[in-house]
Amino acid sequence: MKTLRSWLAGRWQTGEGEGAPLKDPTTEETLARATTKGLDFGEALEYARTVGGPALRELTFVQRGELLMAASNAIHAYRDELLDLARRNGGNTRGDAKFDIDGCTQTMAYYGKHVARELGDARWIVDGDTAQLAANPRFIGQHIKVPRQGVAVHINAFNFPAWGFGEKAAVAILAGMPVVVKPATSTALVTERMFEILVEANVLPDGAVSLIAGSPGDLVDQLGPQDVLAFTGSADTGAWIRSRPAIVNNGVRVNVEADSLNAAVLGADVGSDDPVFDLFLREVARDMTQKAGQKCTAIRRILVPHDSVGMVTEALVEEIKRTRIGDPALKEVRMGPVATQQQYDDVRAGVKALAETAEFIHGDGGRGELVGVDGDRGYFVGPTLLKAKSALDAGVAHDLEVFGPVQTILPYSGDAAEACAAVALGKGGLVSSVYSDDKTFVGDMVMGLAPHHGRLHLGHSKVADHSPGPGTVLPQMVHGGPGRAGSGEELGGVRGLDFYFQRCAVQGLKPLIRKIVS
Ligand code: NAP
Repeated sequence: MKTLRSWLAGRWQTGEGEGAPLKDPTTEETLARATTKGLDFGEALEYARTVGGPALRELTFVQRGELLMAASNAIHAYRDELLDLARRNGGNTRGDAKFDIDGCTQTMAYYGKHVARELGDARWIVDGDTAQLAANPRFIGQHIKVPRQGVAVHINAFNFPAWGFGEKAAVAILAGMPVVVKPATSTALVTERMFEILVEANVLPDGAVSLIAGSPGDLVDQLGPQDVLAFTGSADTGAWIRSRPAIVNNGVRVNVEADSLNAAVLGADVGSDDPVFDLFLREVARDMTQKAGQKCTAIRRILVPHDSVGMVTEALVEEIKRTRIGDPALKEVRMGPVATQQQYDDVRAGVKALAETAEFIHGDGGRGELVGVDGDRGYFVGPTLLKAKSALDAGVAHDLEVFGPVQTILPYSGDAAEACAAVALGKGGLVSSVYSDDKTFVGDMVMGLAPHHGRLHLGHSKVADHSPGPGTVLPQMVHGGPGRAGSGEELGGVRGLDFYFQRCAVQGLKPLIRKIVS
């Protein structure tokens, strides 16, 4: 049985003992085990700080971008092998796996090419203009942004073992900080293989990236004042991390990307013949089934005007029924199992809780009709659509993120203020979407929803053929959201680098400052 290795302090290391199993969620076969028992995280963090950090800071943005391009190309060369591994360890269909693996290499390439070029041959950033600070014009101030001299620790969720690594590492490396990544243990096979590829290709400086494959142990308790921690996962783990004494006492900068009850709002102007209605159906149905609903950005709440509920439920059920569910190795299958036994149990319990205040429209949290699956093996949950009484009286649908192929329809009056008030009951989200061609309605929705979200997706008939959907996180746009979503922010092109920079206000003699920043 394979035991995953961690790449720490410039060498492959294996923990002691049996560790946790990594399974194939389609067959429940154990594929590998992961343990970090006995590994010295303190040594690994110090190696990154003292070897990887200086090597990256010596380079310009353009040179760091070249490293990212080389890393992206090295990983892309093994695309097919990685897609297969994502199927085996994550239950991904080929389409799901592409979303993760290509999402990783494309985000690295975006930062390596476009953002690096935008920042040019500098090693740090001159931030804004100089300010005269006294009557004497020779006394001025200038803000600068320089890379922190610690390590960037990235703790990721199970659903994106590739993209989760790439989207965070690309930004940190371009900013000039070394990375220690800890993927979720249950799906870490993909990340471990990506590290084997990167180490073998030898495209990154020593200490620039390290991997912890397995339990986090005391990792968080070893962080210091120059370090940063970017976490993606459940709100509970995020809150626990934020409260650790080392984080609080050392003022470690923390970014949390957590749960979200993303909403899709259909406008009252939309009829069944409008292109925006097809777009709405496509995007809602895709978010139900893509990655078996295990996307932090997936639509969970569907707000539909009372008069349109019949039209929507009929069309949506028809759309969902077209999805073949089962063994993700089969070409015709569009949705596989959820990733782990724990996920399966959580989703089933979540459906039960939703059903206390909502009625089933399609599915009931059971396995559904499966293709290519023997007996009752595998962590399968069929697409499950529920309907609540109304948007403002929807009980737990505004509170519980059921992280699987589960969505709830929430009927509302068609009034923008009511829709915004209902969506806000989710207490802060990553992304919500509005589907309407009515300018006034959409404008009101944007103003009402923007304070509660990191991103808004506007579905309109004129862009219906070009929309990647709200679930796709593009590196040009910020990812994160207030409140329940963790109050974090990642990506957004050059904006994402700010997390890894220290902004410093430098004040003094004008010619001296001019010389330093020129
Ligand atoms: P999770 O159980 O909170 O785990 C997330 C990560 O935290 C894993 O790597 C886990 O490692 C690690 N972890 C757990 N306990 C820890 C501790 N005491 N110290 C340090 N690290 C610790 O979440 P998950 O089940 O993997 O992911 C599902 C959740 O993530 C969903 O709620 C989803 O909404 C959220 N999510 C959010 C985003 C976003 O961008 N906002 C993206 C994806 C997912 P082990 O695996 O080794 O336990």
